[in-house]
Amino acid sequence: MNTAWFDVFYLAAAILFITGLKGLNSPRTARRGLFLAEAGMALAIIGTLLRHEIVQFQWILVGVTIGSAVGAAMAIFMPMTAMPQRIAISHSFGALAATLVGIAVYHEHAPHVDRIEMTALGFEVLLGSLTITGSLMAFGKLQELLPGTPVIYRFQNIVTLTLFALAVGMFIALIVDAGAVPVFYAMVGAGLLIGVLLVLPIGGADMPVVLALLNSYAGLAAAATGFAIGNTVLIVAGALDGTSGFFLSMMMSRAMNRSFANVLFGAVGAAKPQTQGGVETRTVTHYTPEDAAFILEQAQSVIIVPGYGMAVAQAQQAVAELATLLLRRGAQVRFAIHPVAGRMPGHMNVLLAEANVGYELLFEPDQINDDFQATDVALVVGANDVVNPAARTKQDSPLYGMPILNADQAHTVMVLKRSLRPGFAGEDNDLFYERQTMMVFGDAKATLIAINQLLKEQAHDEHASMASNGVASPNGVRHEPVADVPGTPPTTVRQRPA
Ligand code: NAP
Repeated sequence: MNTAWFDVFYLAAAILFITGLKGLNSPRTARRGLFLAEAGMALAIIGTLLRHEIVQFQWILVGVTIGSAVGAAMAIFMPMTAMPQRIAISHSFGALAATLVGIAVYHEHAPHVDRIEMTALGFEVLLGSLTITGSLMAFGKLQELLPGTPVIYRFQNIVTLTLFALAVGMFIALIVDAGAVPVFYAMVGAGLLIGVLLVLPIGGADMPVVLALLNSYAGLAAAATGFAIGNTVLIVAGALDGTSGFFLSMMMSRAMNRSFANVLFGAVGAAKPQTQGGVETRTVTHYTPEDAAFILEQAQSVIIVPGYGMAVAQAQQAVAELATLLLRRGAQVRFAIHPVAGRMPGHMNVLLAEANVGYELLFEPDQINDDFQATDVALVVGANDVVNPAARTKQDSPLYGMPILNADQAHTVMVLKRSLRPGFAGEDNDLFYERQTMMVFGDAKATLIAINQLLKEQAHDEHASMASNGVASPNGVRHEPVADVPGTPPTTVRQRPA
């Protein structure tokens, strides 16, 4: 086949990748963006299969069959809550592929590898190998097979930086003399070790950033593979993946007030491990779904703060139904979405979109944080770290410095979770013990279904009572003064103006 045709396929694929990536800018266009990128990938594969260097297809078919079966099983059986781990392991597979291609090319051509080719190969295997183990470590931490908190030991920075310097030294030595085969494999080994050491001291609020960074490394390794084997579409796709992942990690670092150096170089500036204090007994206010429904019935303004627990409980439909019921009662309802809520970037947006919650109801911290103090109820659904005031005040906390949602400033804070256990960062949350906080223990979905049922019954009763009294109300809301419930924390339940 005329080689110009490969370029046509590759050019079309590159255009589709770029437009697909642009589509991911907004939840409205994200689905279309994904389809475009998928079409681009299909064209890139077809274009590559048409190349005359490919003389046999049987091994490719075996690979495609096994890969498709594994990919389909992962997509079908892995729950949404395990998506971050799935992404981490996919980065590891991508990096493994890039590293193996690099090793194969080196094995085939050494010692006759020119300096430019060796530079591309060096980048490919070094970035690839550290991404393999770094992503496996991230998978282990997210799957809770390894401690999720930072693992810190003495001279950690010195060890990591020395190893890094050694790997770079070997890389330079190979550019000078590509025939030094043992140095090549030692560099691969050093890369694998660096991946482990880089992710070991990262935990808590830095995990989302490190995931984006590993994505970037896998992309850059793929771009280097493209240079090494002379494949333009791999260069374009890898560069897009690499740079977008890098920008995403920088933006997330900035949004969360984390040190980017900390994430890039592991323990540099990592939070100190927490010291165990004496056991302290504190009390919390425990409410039932009935109490919660009573307070929500009266609220004029509600901000819902979803978190990882909403994903675990699969409570997004129940949350959406509650929002609809409250809106029907005439309350103002908004959602406050923290950039790292859940376990992957955009986790809450995806779930709420699945439940058809309108985008106009979703607000980022900067847009909504000042409004909490004038809000009747902050309803925290399975969120913990993203509303933990320790991020503001507790300097030895892994959360310290991360901007949080100001749920604690609302008149009443209602927290739906199963226990007082801490969230991902392992930090106790003082919000649960505040006077204005009511804990409604239980699975978030079950609690919300109970609350929704009570609100529906209440609305039905109000409707029936108005119909029997012949009273017309445009929105079916009864305006009654509300008495304080004895023994409960003070709640501000204002009457809506008639
Ligand atoms: P979180 O701090 O992990 O807390 C989630 C809470 O949900 C837990 O405290 C848990 O408490 C509760 N929960 C679990 N299952 C539940 C259920 N069935 N019903 C009700 N509650 C349930 O979550 P977050 O506030 O969303 O914060 C996210 C954390 O993950 C941050 O530390 C972030 O840095 C980290 N992280 C984020 C990403 C990302 O990209 N978004 C990636 C990796 C890590 P109980 O066990 O008591 O129910």
